[in-house]
Amino acid sequence: MRARGGPGRDSINRPARRRRTPRRAGRVAARRAACEHDGMDTRSSDELFARARLVTPGGVNSPVRAFGSVGGTPRFVHSGSGCRITDVDGNRYIDMVGSWGPLLLGHAHPRVLAALREALPAGTSFGAPVEAEVTLAEAVLARVPAAASVRFVNSGTEATMSAIRLARGVTGRDLLVKFAGNYHGHADSLLVAAGSGALTTGVPSSAGVPPGAAGDTLVARYNDAASLRALFEERGERIAAVIMEPVAGNMGVVPPAPGFLEAVRELTRRFGAAMIVDEVMTGFRVARGGAVERFHLSPDLVTWGKVVGGGLPVGAYGGKAAFMDQVSPLGPVYQAGTLSGNPLAMAGGLAMLHAIDEAGDVYEALEERGRKLEAGLVAAAAQAGVPVQVNRVGSMLTVFFTGSAVRDHEGSAACDAAAFARWFHGLLSRGVWWPPSQFESAFLSYAHRESDVDAVVEAAAAAFEDVAAGAG
Ligand SMILES: *Cc1c(COP(=O)(O)O)cnc(C)c1O
Repeated sequence: MRARGGPGRDSINRPARRRRTPRRAGRVAARRAACEHDGMDTRSSDELFARARLVTPGGVNSPVRAFGSVGGTPRFVHSGSGCRITDVDGNRYIDMVGSWGPLLLGHAHPRVLAALREALPAGTSFGAPVEAEVTLAEAVLARVPAAASVRFVNSGTEATMSAIRLARGVTGRDLLVKFAGNYHGHADSLLVAAGSGALTTGVPSSAGVPPGAAGDTLVARYNDAASLRALFEERGERIAAVIMEPVAGNMGVVPPAPGFLEAVRELTRRFGAAMIVDEVMTGFRVARGGAVERFHLSPDLVTWGKVVGGGLPVGAYGGKAAFMDQVSPLGPVYQAGTLSGNPLAMAGGLAMLHAIDEAGDVYEALEERGRKLEAGLVAAAAQAGVPVQVNRVGSMLTVFFTGSAVRDHEGSAACDAAAFARWFHGLLSRGVWWPPSQFESAFLSYAHRESDVDAVVEAAAAAFEDVAAGAG
């Protein structure tokens, strides 16, 4: 890979100007003429992606990164600082992905970097207890009093998988209920779509998932308590748990309808099933104590990931003592991990939670800037005559290209994916790094200032005009 006048050290929130020497400007102009995407120089990304495809399936280590649903070649990242990222060709963007959720305070937060620097010389992994595991557990439980204890794992997928095993182990039941369009990681029993028919037994949504694994998962409709009640009335005595996103973020953002979360709690309690609230995305993001705090929930089990690792690989699950006390080595439900509670990862997570508290106004600021972004996007779309629905909860936001309200998976799936793809490329070419899929949340961070929100809205307005013009 060629070095391209590599980006300088940026201070947080203070993007350094991209230096462009005359020679470089000439190169850029030449390549720009050859660039078919959007006028940006993307040659280093294109070269890296070509190499990546030879050694990694699809060239990526997680599918959405491949730009499959919007077309074009993914940009390789060189570095990030605050709300900005710089790609390997030196293009700069306002980042609205935030590593898909973890970076609540933006990239390369000084507190997180300092904590990692401090932890590093002591060694990277021991397979024995370290103090940081205790401290981070205390920090999590202080923010989520509904949980009596917490176990750290290495990803959100591991957290949900472990919580489900625990719910089954404690209840002695097999069946699991999930909601269509909710995502809980890639464990077999969760890669399941609604089958046909009123009482939906799941069918695998991925090759390689045995029908048996999928068959123990029932699928209800999000924001439809009646669909859940029907499952319980039919098979309630066999249902171990209901797992849900308290704010859906993986079919695009879909807030819970009034009364829906309460209905899930009431039904699970009545039928003796565990309520698992999957806060991998919402935890420490939609409020200091996550959705549990924001919506006053009292779940049996909670899963976390993303923010709790501060940008390092961490997942966690916790909950009521009646459940958590059954986890090995205390109880018979097995769960383990060579790198679980890794000292660097714990240090990153701890620094993140502390930095959130230190800032003092993170959640208020995110709410305010989120409101401003939402209002700006709605106005810009209306101005261009493009029908959209903007769903937002705090710093999580999705622009759905549809004229109808989106409150479940069917509504989300009915959106105009081609219009979204045009809008996405309109944003990217104007220096806004939006999630490359209609069915994802965009994320504001505390590092996005009002002026950054204005810049995103300005780019979005132009991109809506592209959509209205039917331009590529
Ligand atoms: C991201 C996510 C997961 C999966 O977490 P990974 O760390 O990617 O395994 C699970 N549940 C929800 C709600 C998520 O948003």
